[in-house]
Amino acid sequence: MKAVVLVKQVPDLRRGGVGVRADGTIDRAAAAPITNPADLHALEAALQLADDVCALSMGPPQAESALRGALEIGAHRAVLLCDHLLAGSDTWATANALVAAIEWIGGVDLVLCGISALDGETGQVGPSVAQRLGWPQATACESLAIDGRSLIARRVVEGGYERLRLPLPAVVTVGETGFAPRYPTLPNRRRAAAATIERIGAADIGIDANSVGLAASPTKVAKMVSSPLPDRGCRYVGSDGFGYDDLVAELIGRSAFAPRDEVAQRTPTPLSVTSEAAAYEGDASVWVVGQMTEGTLDRSTLELLSQATQLAPALGGGVAAVVLGAEVGAAVDVAGRHGADVVYLAESPALSPYRAEPHARVIADAIRARKPDSVLFSATTTGRDLAPRVASMLNTGLAADCTDLYIDDWTRRGVTYERLLHMVRPAMAGGVLATCLCPQARPQMATVRPGVFELRELPRRPRVESLAIELSATDERVDVLERRTSPADVDLRDADVVIAGGAGCDQSSWHLIEDLAAAIGGKIAASRGAVEARLAPRSLQVGQTGATVRPRLYVACGISGALQHAVGMQDSTTIVAINRDPEAVVFRLANFGIVADVREAIPQLVAALDQRRPAPPS
Ligand SMILES: Cc1cc2nc3c(=O)[nH]c(=O)nc-3n(C[C@H](O)[C@H](O)[C@H](O)COP(=O)(O)OP(=O)(O)OC[C@H]3O[C@@H](n4cnc5c(N)ncnc54)[C@H](O)[C@@H]3O)c2cc1C
Repeated sequence: MKAVVLVKQVPDLRRGGVGVRADGTIDRAAAAPITNPADLHALEAALQLADDVCALSMGPPQAESALRGALEIGAHRAVLLCDHLLAGSDTWATANALVAAIEWIGGVDLVLCGISALDGETGQVGPSVAQRLGWPQATACESLAIDGRSLIARRVVEGGYERLRLPLPAVVTVGETGFAPRYPTLPNRRRAAAATIERIGAADIGIDANSVGLAASPTKVAKMVSSPLPDRGCRYVGSDGFGYDDLVAELIGRSAFAPRDEVAQRTPTPLSVTSEAAAYEGDASVWVVGQMTEGTLDRSTLELLSQATQLAPALGGGVAAVVLGAEVGAAVDVAGRHGADVVYLAESPALSPYRAEPHARVIADAIRARKPDSVLFSATTTGRDLAPRVASMLNTGLAADCTDLYIDDWTRRGVTYERLLHMVRPAMAGGVLATCLCPQARPQMATVRPGVFELRELPRRPRVESLAIELSATDERVDVLERRTSPADVDLRDADVVIAGGAGCDQSSWHLIEDLAAAIGGKIAASRGAVEARLAPRSLQVGQTGATVRPRLYVACGISGALQHAVGMQDSTTIVAINRDPEAVVFRLANFGIVADVREAIPQLVAALDQRRPAPPS
């Protein structure tokens, strides 16, 4: 069994934008080069599954140190793809280069890489490489096993997991919740020190400037701006006579509690609704690829449809919802209620449950036939799995995990590109906002972070058109063996109150998070620190690589307030932070702070809440 692991050397941005200058460029002196952490998990997976493991990196000569590190851990061979032609490659161009190198290595059964890289955080390279190789893919895997010539992969999805059977050869991306990396051994260190790292260039693997590098890349970065977090002027419990009772009174005054709690009256945020409009009869310029949950379109799709109605007029067209599945007719009315002028339906048992290849085939065929200007996906585990495969099939650019979209002209070197989709996304571990464009290739494609756009009702009666479904046996080669999700975990985004625990909690204190959530009637969430400590499942993670939430009350318990966490909760109406470190950044984000150990603070807060509760009727 021969495996290639894609290993990237990245600046160490783990402590929140360290080393990112105000203009978004990296201060390499401040951000030490490290091996992308998720790639180390992929390497561990490869070492457990394969007897011949080759680490492959694309980068400057310094990336040799990441490869030597892979040899120290146990990789048997290391190849560095290094060529000035590769500089500035986007994910499309990177995938082109890596695929050529994988084919040059030859005889590969399995390609593995980390779910995403610290610096780019797109998660696109794995699926793009899979599509270019013509292989099946499994993204965000946390466990893998070989069964004959098949791979059984368990991948993380919102609120649970699914298990897939893929024929080999295949491509997998590995998350940081499985395959804890091993330490280098002394014999491996000695071997690595003496090993030769094979260096290859573009010419060795038959690629040229038409398929790699900045000029060939369909995606361009138009602008980078730093994105500092606002300071809410935290008021601390224990200062100026402000006690737990006062905090609870303040929270009640702000209607911060969930309606379930007797201490507060709920003031529901009304869904903005407009009266029914006539559906646009011409072609749809903006498509939203729908994601089905429990027989209907999920909330993130409806948010995207609402936003698409803002974009489409500038592009001179309407909005389409693209809905694939077995029995999805019920989605038509829902899509129409949220702004779809047309619903493209592809109904077939082969399209349910979701699998990347059949879905990508149908969507790519439909795009080729109808030529929309822009296509949007939710940045869910499904959207992140599917969109790169579609973009790669169409040779177009894709911006990942966007937090804003707008249409504007762009002028570069005297050439004006009119009415481009401006795709704004956090980059460099959230330290900057990058505006990405796809000036020439079409369609313009983006995955969009759930929860960033308002959900609105914009009713219209959409026309319905059926999409052609022409699948080959190859498209259907992956089996979904099992899918388990818990809906209760998934609807964090709708929660009025969120109680989030971080790495400041441990197994013995996590029950306090549950106690507080029960006392206030809130939903439990977690920082990545808590997820990595296995205190909570990945589906509860809030932040850049988790959910974006906007509750009326967010209580951060034992969370430091790293930028990547903050971007997922900073728009909460009221934030309370509990942290024993008075210098913790989270206090800058908070309206109210408690400088204390969670073990002391949470019981006191629960007691203060209990006191404000009306006595039960006798
Ligand atoms: C590309 C990228 C994406 C990322 N995406 C996310 C994301 O989506 N979500 C996310 O959360 N992070 C994300 N991170 C990680 C992020 O940078 C932080 O590492 C993470 O948020 C830290 O989690 P934490 O605050 O729980 O842990 P820590 O940073 O370890 O903080 C723990 C805090 O708890 C306090 N504490 C310790 N013990 C106690 C106690 N007994 N009582 C009270 N306080 C205590 C400490 O003072 C400390 O402030 C990402 C990082 C990168 C590079």
